[in-house]
Amino acid sequence: MRHEKKFEFLFEHLSNEIFYILFNNRNFLLKFNEIVSESVSDLIDTYPSNLLNNKGRIKRTNIPVWVKNAVFHRDKGRCVFCNTDLTSLVNTLTAKNYDHIVPLDLFGANDPCNIQLSCEKCNKTKSNKDPETSNNYYSWW
Ligand SMILES: [Zn+2]
Repeated sequence: MRHEKKFEFLFEHLSNEIFYILFNNRNFLLKFNEIVSESVSDLIDTYPSNLLNNKGRIKRTNIPVWVKNAVFHRDKGRCVFCNTDLTSLVNTLTAKNYDHIVPLDLFGANDPCNIQLSCEKCNKTKSNKDPETSNNYYSWW
C-alpha cells in the first residue's frame, strides 16, 4: 500500500512535469495534433452530428479564458509567426487571435494544446491552409 501511494504521487508529479514541458513546445504540439487529426478524420463519421459543422468538421467553440491565459503566457504575448507584440503595452490596436495549430477544416480539435497566439494579419494569412507553427521562443537567458 505504501508503495502504491508513492507510485501515485510519482505518476501525478511526472504527468505534470511532462505536460509542462510538452505544452511549451509548439513543434511537438503541431506533430501531436497532426496525429490526432488523422484519427479524428478516420472517426469523424461516428461523431454526433451536433458536434459537427455543415462541412462535417468539428464545430468551432469559444475558447475558455483559462486556455487563452495559458496560451498567451506560453507564447509570451507575441504572435508566434511575426513576433508582433500583442500585450497592448506598446500598441493597443493589434488584435489577439487564438489560432488552431491544425485548422478545424483539417480535422484539428478545439483542444488547448491545439491553440497558439497570433496577430490578425498572420491568422488571416494562415487561414485553413496547412498546419503551421514556429520555432520562435523567448530566450530565458
Ligand atoms: Zn503575426
